[in-house]
Amino acid sequence: RVKNNYMNKIAVFDDKIAEKEYAEQNVIMEMNNALGSDQFHIYLQPKVDMITGRIVGSEALVRWIHPTKGVISPVDFVPIFEGNGFISEIDFYMLEQVCKMIRRWLDKGLEAKPVSVNLSRSNLYSPRILNDIMTCVERYSVPHDLIEFEITESAFAVDNIHLNQLMEQLQKNHFRVLMDDFGSGYSSLNALRELSVDILKIDIKFLPVSQNDKRADIILRSVTQMADQLGLEIVVEGVETEAQADLLKKMGCRIAQGFLYYRPMPIEEYERVLKKQK
Ligand code: C2E
Ligand code: MG
Ligand code: MG
Ligand code: MG
Repeated sequence: RVKNNYMNKIAVFDDKIAEKEYAEQNVIMEMNNALGSDQFHIYLQPKVDMITGRIVGSEALVRWIHPTKGVISPVDFVPIFEGNGFISEIDFYMLEQVCKMIRRWLDKGLEAKPVSVNLSRSNLYSPRILNDIMTCVERYSVPHDLIEFEITESAFAVDNIHLNQLMEQLQKNHFRVLMDDFGSGYSSLNALRELSVDILKIDIKFLPVSQNDKRADIILRSVTQMADQLGLEIVVEGVETEAQADLLKKMGCRIAQGFLYYRPMPIEEYERVLKKQK
């Protein structure tokens, strides 16, 4: 009887794994086809100067627009692609699309503001990465100060020495480097100490901004001062309320990215918004 029960548990466990594996297999099968049939798209989320309300740049976020399932969020496939290495193809696809887009802006005389591209951890240790980036950017003759790279904090600490070499090389070539999701991981300060970045992108989740949250207040203030003294710019991500924006402004933060201002949007919509603010 005991044995029977045990076997049942294993069977249930096996089913769950099988289901998960099946779902993942499905994604993997579809993704090759998806890349070939242009199902991945750029959405742009503006970065806004909270004082003037003006857009200063944007972040490119991938969306999988599936013929039957509709828009699939990166939260549902980026982790899978990180596991199987496909993410580097997505990242380079995004970089190339961003370069093409900026080229078009420049050719049409549209306003071109910097765009940041996310680079996943599995990409960062490839010996070809700098070369691949340069080749891509040169192909479209995009000025390097119009491209920024967001590298997430969880990518740090694996091999900071190697990573720092890459970041310094990017910076030497006049690309700006952002530390994404600062404060959401467990090695933020260490990463900051060991790596050369230009911009700190603070995760608002790490700063619970309620009315009388003294601790959050102190932490935010210190991070802001620290960034200032290190000569880093700050972008605050995930700003959703006026109260958060007010507090951030009081602390001297200026650039924000969040639903309070804009949600990620298709390229054409971003172009319309930029035109309107001119
Ligand atoms: P991330 O790079 O930290 O991007 C910011 C995420 O926060 C975006 O989610 C954005 O829509 C969301 N966000 C912005 N403002 C707000 C806000 O006010 N409130 C809330 N709740 N969320 C906000 P998204 O587009 O779903 O992307 C999720 C993550 O997927 C990204 O986080 C990034 O890690 C990854 N990702 C997206 N595109 C790419 C890509 O092309 N390559 C790689 N490697 N990763 C990507
Ligand atoms: Mg990002
Ligand atoms: Mg982020
Ligand atoms: Mg984030």
